[in-house]
Amino acid sequence: MHSWRECSGFVVFRIQHLQWMGIAAAAIGCLLLGGAAVLSNFNDYQRHSHGAYELERFSALLEAVNAISAERGPANSAMAATDAEAAARHAELATKRAETDAAIYNMEAVFKDTIAGQECDAAHARLQSELANGRRKVDFAASSPFAERDPRAIGRGMLAMFAAADAATKLRDLVSGHIIAETPGLAGELMLANSASTLRDQEGRLGSFVVMALVAPPERDPMYLQRMQAAEGIIRSLWSTSVSLADNLLPDPEITGLVAAVQRDFFDGALLLALDAAENHAEDNSLSPAVLTAEYVPGMRSSELLRTAVIRHAVAAMDRNADNALKALVSAALLTAAILAVLVIVAVVFRRTLFSPLMRLHDDVLALASGDHKAPAPLNGTAREVGNIFNGLDILRQNLAEKRVLEEEQRRLNRRLRRLAETDTLTGQLNRRALLSRVDAMFRRADRIGESLAVVLFDIDHFKVVNDTHGHAVGDEVLSGVARLIDGALRTGDTLARIGGEEFVLILRRADDITAHNLLERLRILLSETAVQGKLGLKVTASFGAAMRPAGSAQDWDEMFSLADQRLYMAKGAGRNCIVTEGFSPQTRQRA
Ligand code: GH3
Ligand code: MG
Ligand code: MG
Repeated sequence: MHSWRECSGFVVFRIQHLQWMGIAAAAIGCLLLGGAAVLSNFNDYQRHSHGAYELERFSALLEAVNAISAERGPANSAMAATDAEAAARHAELATKRAETDAAIYNMEAVFKDTIAGQECDAAHARLQSELANGRRKVDFAASSPFAERDPRAIGRGMLAMFAAADAATKLRDLVSGHIIAETPGLAGELMLANSASTLRDQEGRLGSFVVMALVAPPERDPMYLQRMQAAEGIIRSLWSTSVSLADNLLPDPEITGLVAAVQRDFFDGALLLALDAAENHAEDNSLSPAVLTAEYVPGMRSSELLRTAVIRHAVAAMDRNADNALKALVSAALLTAAILAVLVIVAVVFRRTLFSPLMRLHDDVLALASGDHKAPAPLNGTAREVGNIFNGLDILRQNLAEKRVLEEEQRRLNRRLRRLAETDTLTGQLNRRALLSRVDAMFRRADRIGESLAVVLFDIDHFKVVNDTHGHAVGDEVLSGVARLIDGALRTGDTLARIGGEEFVLILRRADDITAHNLLERLRILLSETAVQGKLGLKVTASFGAAMRPAGSAQDWDEMFSLADQRLYMAKGAGRNCIVTEGFSPQTRQRA
C-alpha cells in the first residue's frame, strides 16, 4: 500500500517547512522592497547632498568671476581719475584687487584637486594671465598724469580686463559643464546662476562702453556705441531667459522680489541713464564719467543679489531634498524593520496557535491510529478551530477507548462461551465437539514433528448398575470422579475428553504401543483401586480400546476412532476392566 505522500506525485512539504518557507518568502520580499526603498532614498540623499556641495563650490567660483568683473569699475575709475582723485581711486582699486585675489584664492582652495582636466587647468592659467595682463594695462593707463593720459591706453586696459572676465566666464562655463554632467539635476539652477552672473558682467561692460564713449575722442564713439548696443542686446536676451528660468525653477518671493528689483534698478534706472548718457554725451550738459559711474554701479547691485540668492535658494532646496531623502530613508528602514518584526510575531503566533498544534495533531492521530489511546497532555493557546479538532480527537479517543473495552469484554465473553461450548459441564473436560474440532490439528502437528499418537476409548464398566443402585446423582459424582482421577494421572500434553454417557477418549502423545499400553495399564489399575465417589467410597473399573497412529500415518480420525471402538468392544467382550491394544491380547483383571 502506498501512502498519499508517495502516490500524489508532488513534492510534499512538511508543515514546518511550509511555515518557514512562507515566512522566509515574506521576509525576503519585505527586505527586497525595504532595501530598494532605502537604497533609492540613500541615492537621493547622496545626490542632493552632493548637489548642495557642488552648488556651494560653484558659488565660490561665481564669486571669483564676479569679483574679476566687478574689479573693472574701480579700474575704470582709476584710469579716468583726475590727478586730484588719483590717490583715492588707486587705493579703491587696490582694495578691490585684494578682494578679487581673495575670491580667486578661495575658489582655488575649494576646487583644489577635485575638478580635473587639462581644459580646466588651461582655462584657470589663462584667467590668471589675462587678469595679470589686464591689471598691468590698467596700471599703465592710470599711471600717466591726467593731462597726458592716452584714451587708447585706457581702452586697451578696459579691453584687457574684459578679456580677463571672458577667461573667468570660460572657466565658469567649463566647471558648470562638469557639474551638470555629474549632477544633471542642477542644470536649471546653474544656468540661472550663470545667466545672472553673465547679466551682471554684461551690465558692467555696457557701463564701461558708455564711459569710454564719454572719455574717448569722438572718432572712436561709433565703436564704443556699437559695443554698447551689442551688450544691451545680450543683456535683454539674458534677462528674458533668466526671468522665465527663475519663475519656473525658484517660485519664491525673495527671487520674485529680486527680479522686480533688477527690472526697476537696472532696466528702468541705470540702463536708461546709460543709454541717455551715451546718446547725449556730445551735449554740454552731458554726464561726467564719474557721475555716470556713481549712478550706474548701484543699479547693478540687484543683479548681483539675484545671482547670490539663486545659488542660496538652490543650495537650500538641495539641502531640503537631502533632508527629505534622509527622512524617507529612515522611514523606509523603520517600516521594513516594523514589518519584519510583525512577520516574526506572526510567525511565532502561527507557530504557537497553528503549526505546532497541527504537528502535535499529526503525532496524536498517528498514535491513535497505531492503537495508543492514552490522552496526551492538553495543549493551550491554539487557534479555536485547531482546539475544536483536538476536542473532536479527544471524543474520538474516548469512543475508541470505550469501544476497545467493549471489544475486550466481547472477546472475554466469546472465550467464555467457546470454553463453555467446548467443555463437558459435568466433568469439566473437553466435550465431543471440542475434541473433534482439535483432532485434525493434533494429527497434523504430530505428523510435522514426527510424533506417534495413541487414540484410546474407555468406557466405565456396568455403570448402569451404579445408577440403578445409587441413583443418577451418585452416578454423576462417579462420572466426574473418574474424569478427575484420570485427568490427574495423565502426562502433560495428553488429552482427555468425555464423548458421551460414561465414555471417554484419551489422546496420548509420544506413545508407541508399549508406552501406551503401560500408561493405560497404570490408569486402569489406578481407577480400579481408587474410590471415585466420596461418601459411599465407590470404585469402578473401565475397559480400554487403543489404536496407535505412527507419525505420517494416512489414517484419519474416523478410522482411528473406529479401530479404538472395536478394541473397546473387544475389551468389553473379554470381560471388561482390561486393555485391548496393538500387540497386546486382552486380559481380564478382576479385583480380588
Ligand atoms: P457395560 O459394562 O457394558 O458398559 O455396561 P453399562 O451398564 O456401563 O452400559 P450401558 O450402556 O448399559 O449403560 C450406560 C448407562 O449410563 C446408561 C445411562 O443411564 C447411564 N448414563 C449415561 N449418561 C449418564 C449420565 O450423564 N449420568 C448418569 N448418572 N448416568 C448416565
Ligand atoms: Mg459402560
Ligand atoms: Mg457405554
